[in-house]
Amino acid sequence: MEILDGKKVADERAEALKASFAELDFTPKLVIFRVGERVDSKSYVERKVVMAERLGVSAEVVHLPESVSEAELLEKVLQHNQDPETHGMIVQLPLPEQIDSTKIINTIDPKKDVDGLCDHNIAQLTTNQPGVVPATPRGILTLLQSYDIEVAGKHIVVIGRSRLVGKSVLLLLQNHDATVTMCHSKTADLAVHTKVADIVIVATGQQQFINAEHLRDGQVVIDVGIGANAEEKIVGDVDFASVKDMDIKLSPVPGGVGPMTVISLYENLLTVVNEFQS
Ligand code: NDP
Repeated sequence: MEILDGKKVADERAEALKASFAELDFTPKLVIFRVGERVDSKSYVERKVVMAERLGVSAEVVHLPESVSEAELLEKVLQHNQDPETHGMIVQLPLPEQIDSTKIINTIDPKKDVDGLCDHNIAQLTTNQPGVVPATPRGILTLLQSYDIEVAGKHIVVIGRSRLVGKSVLLLLQNHDATVTMCHSKTADLAVHTKVADIVIVATGQQQFINAEHLRDGQVVIDVGIGANAEEKIVGDVDFASVKDMDIKLSPVPGGVGPMTVISLYENLLTVVNEFQS
């Protein structure tokens, strides 16, 4: 097995990105909305703040109580839309159930939507027009490109159809001339699809669910899933023990797509500053 080392690639890209930010005559600011006390959300936000410090940009965390109303959160987003000192905004998902996350994301100015998840940016991706590409799909494509893994003309099977990952990565890869098959929880005979793929991207949130029975030698496997198992160990959607002796290239969890998502968020911040706000 060859490991596709997302941490290493992200570290290398951080150096170049820091230099690009340093060339600006101002310090860009990312505002991160965090609601409630979810431990996983807290940890994801902390990682994003650490990366901001490393890159020499500013990250302001707006931490709101679990009970915050949708109207209050909308008001905060609108304030930052108007604030010229705020260059990018993200909302750490999931949000409490009283809040419609789609409504919040669609309130973010598309030119500040560095997660690339608002309707405008998804429409741009759908029509292959300039826009902000969602951070996780951007990170997946960058990881593949960093290892000289061509996607054009390849058959890629994506498992999972969320807007956050599955649908967005399907659109991005189609735009890069891949032939993409989408699978989901109602797909019959999943292994029939995964075995014929050149590249398999797994984003189901089902821990260690993809195993050697779904794969064959020679494939590239991107594991997007992140979850803590019963022993509080971080695991992905691929059963590492089951596939470790296969002749595949695998992005591991942790250390694969996670760091690539964080670096892509800041690459998006540079994109919006340079291309959409100037
Ligand atoms: P969602 O729960 O929104 O979507 C999961 C998708 O997987 C759904 O489309 C679902 O199908 C499909 N699915 C679930 N079970 C199966 C199954 N048994 N067989 C086939 N398909 C199945 O999750 P997200 O897309 O938001 O996230 C997926 C994973 O990626 C999570 O572990 C999340 O934590 C992780 N993640 C990691 C990121 C990173 O930076 N590394 C960033 C974002 C997410 P259906 O539509 O039919 O229900």
